[in-house]
Amino acid sequence: GGIVIAIDGPSGSGKSSTSKGVARARNLRYLDTGAMYRALTWWMLENGVDVSDASAVAAAVERPTIEMGTDPAAPTVAVDGRDVAAEIRGKEVTGSVSAVSAVPEARELLVRIQREIIARARAESAGIVVEGRDITTVVAPDAPVKLFLTASAEARAQRRSKEVRTSDVAATQAALLRRDRLDSSRAHSPLTRTEDAVELDTTGLSLDEVVELVVGLADE
Ligand code: C5P
Repeated sequence: GGIVIAIDGPSGSGKSSTSKGVARARNLRYLDTGAMYRALTWWMLENGVDVSDASAVAAAVERPTIEMGTDPAAPTVAVDGRDVAAEIRGKEVTGSVSAVSAVPEARELLVRIQREIIARARAESAGIVVEGRDITTVVAPDAPVKLFLTASAEARAQRRSKEVRTSDVAATQAALLRRDRLDSSRAHSPLTRTEDAVELDTTGLSLDEVVELVVGLADE
C-alpha cells in the first residue's frame, strides 16, 4: 500500500497548507479531518441540535452522511450530498466545533470513516496525507511519518486572519487560543504530541520550506 503521513497541530500552525502541499508534491491523497468535525457541526446547527448537550449530539451523529473528496488540488466536503465547503468555515461552525468534537460518539464515528478512507487509499497504493488533532495518536498511530506542527500564537493568528480575511488579528488570536484550550483539555483524544512525532515549529518558515522539510522526512 501507499505511504501514510500523519500531521497534527493547532489551527494556524500551517497544517492545511503543508498537508496539501506535500500531497501535491508527492502525488498523494489528502484528508482534512477538521473539515469532517466542522461538517458534522454544521449539520447539528442546521438541524437544531443543541451542541452544548452532549447526549443530544451523541444521539444524532449517525444521521448525516459525510463524504470527503481527497484530491489535494480540489478537496471537497459534502453532507447529505450538499457541498458545505463554504458553510463550515463560518463563525457559527467555528464557535461550536469544539463542543461537538468533545463528544466521544462523534469521534468514534468520524475516526471510523477516516480509517476507511486511509485503508482505501492504501489499497489503491495511492498513499495519503491526513491532518488533524489526533491523527498521530489515535487515527493512524502506525503511520511511518508523523509530524506535530507548531507556531507562535502571533504567527498562527496572522495566518488565520488572512485565511478568514479579517484585519482583527487580536480577536482572531483570542478565538484561536480559546479553541486550543478546549481541544487540548477535553477528556477524549485531546490534542497532544506523542514522543515519536517530529515536532516542527513553522514560525519563521515559508510554506515552501515546510513542505520541503516534510517531503524530505517522507523520502527517508
Ligand atoms: O483543523 P480545524 O481547525 O478545521 O478543526 C476544527 C476543529 O475540529 C478543531 O478545533 C477540533 O475541535 C476538531 N478536530 C478534532 N480532531 C481532529 C480534527 C479536528 O477534534 N482530528
